[in-house]
Amino acid sequence: MSEREPTLAERASRERALAQLARTVEACRKCEIGYARTKTVFGEGDPCAHLMCVGEGPGEMEDATGRPFVGRAGELLTKMLGAIGLERNEVYICNTIKCRASYREGTKVRNRAPTPQELTNCRPYLDEQIAIIRPQVILALGAPAAKSFLGPAFQITRMRGRWYEGPHGIPLMVTFHPAYVLRQGGMALTETKRLVWADLKAVWARLDELERQLEPQAPPAASEQPGEPERPTLF
Ligand code: SF4
Repeated sequence: MSEREPTLAERASRERALAQLARTVEACRKCEIGYARTKTVFGEGDPCAHLMCVGEGPGEMEDATGRPFVGRAGELLTKMLGAIGLERNEVYICNTIKCRASYREGTKVRNRAPTPQELTNCRPYLDEQIAIIRPQVILALGAPAAKSFLGPAFQITRMRGRWYEGPHGIPLMVTFHPAYVLRQGGMALTETKRLVWADLKAVWARLDELERQLEPQAPPAASEQPGEPERPTLF
């Protein structure tokens, strides 16, 4: 798919639209968790990003900071993006739900999976983010995010690693959530990293193809052909 790069005016317009939407989300109390949250976690990144990463929902640190993917899982996501040559601020990162789904256990507040109703209530905000940013590729991180796009029958272990048609026909790839990767150990960790790396390389190839379409030029000499990114040792 080929689309020209947005102009400065388009970038400013998208920034304004996202800021307006973030204010709407901040005021939203459609669900009970809207009253329990510390901060809404709207999303952050480049409003003209080619890649949008979508996770499930905020955890404790995200709720406290108002930012998606912070803490160890966020650090790993930053490394995963870096492995395919992307800075975190070059992509757009958000979640399927904007408030932390939680419950109280004594004095502790624990995470829980969002309810179907909460996901339904919050979905229009994600849809609008996608419509404003119009990414070229969506990367769903984890089964809950994948199910929100592809339906409840989606099974991440069997069905990740292929291209699907996302909203507005945007190519959608699914991989494991960084928090899931961090929970693995031993051989399971090695295998999970291998699979995630395969998914990331597919995303890299799609974005690389897009970049060539955006900047038409004489094909590079064989010696200048970009090779696949090397899997870094840190990931
Ligand atoms: S989860 Fe979404 S819909 Fe529900 S209160 Fe928070 S922002 Fe509103």
